[in-house]
Amino acid sequence: MGHMLEREREQVAIGARRLAAAGLVGGTSGNVSARRDDRVAITPTGGVLAELEPEQVTVVDLEGEVLDGELAPTSEIDLHLGIYRRYRTGAIVHCHAPVATALSCVLDELPCIHYEMLLLGGTVRVAPYATFGTPELARAVVDALEGRTAALMANHGAVTHGADVATAVRATEVLEWAANVYWHARAIGAPRVLDEAQQQAVLEAALGRRYGRVQPAERAS
Ligand SMILES: [Zn+2]
Repeated sequence: MGHMLEREREQVAIGARRLAAAGLVGGTSGNVSARRDDRVAITPTGGVLAELEPEQVTVVDLEGEVLDGELAPTSEIDLHLGIYRRYRTGAIVHCHAPVATALSCVLDELPCIHYEMLLLGGTVRVAPYATFGTPELARAVVDALEGRTAALMANHGAVTHGADVATAVRATEVLEWAANVYWHARAIGAPRVLDEAQQQAVLEAALGRRYGRVQPAERAS
């Protein structure tokens, strides 16, 4: 036991610890998963994320059948599997990050107020409230993620996804940061929102400059 999806299990444990260290998950609230083909490594229910070890990570198939691991998977397993069934993505983070969660209690969407939010697909939708762990909640969140890598969950929290755990964790960090910016801006006045043309110009500039990638310095010769 414990040899299936070894690399993904390790990434899930590292991601859970990183989220806990950043204050984005507390105690056992929040869950992380990583997919390889039709198998998913996912945090266990009741696992303390700040201390999670790879051998505590459970492996399930896309129907939720446990294939490996000693512990039952997170109660939000339907949410994770629903996202993997709908979208081509490699990893998912669900958390109750404080500012994102606060905004989820008030907003119907988090407007695109900063170009870094284009990493999330722009405006972040808020999925309607449903009881945690239910298929209704999973469906609502899967729909809210259409064309996005992040969604808020009304009166509950947030979910992000990406090609791998590090990318999904990064999206959660950006989302919580943007939520903080929006909160502070909103406290002062009515935040300006980037319109479609401004968002498109950012995407074009990013493509042109390969924004965010490490590049060797131009050599002056
Ligand atoms: Zn939750």
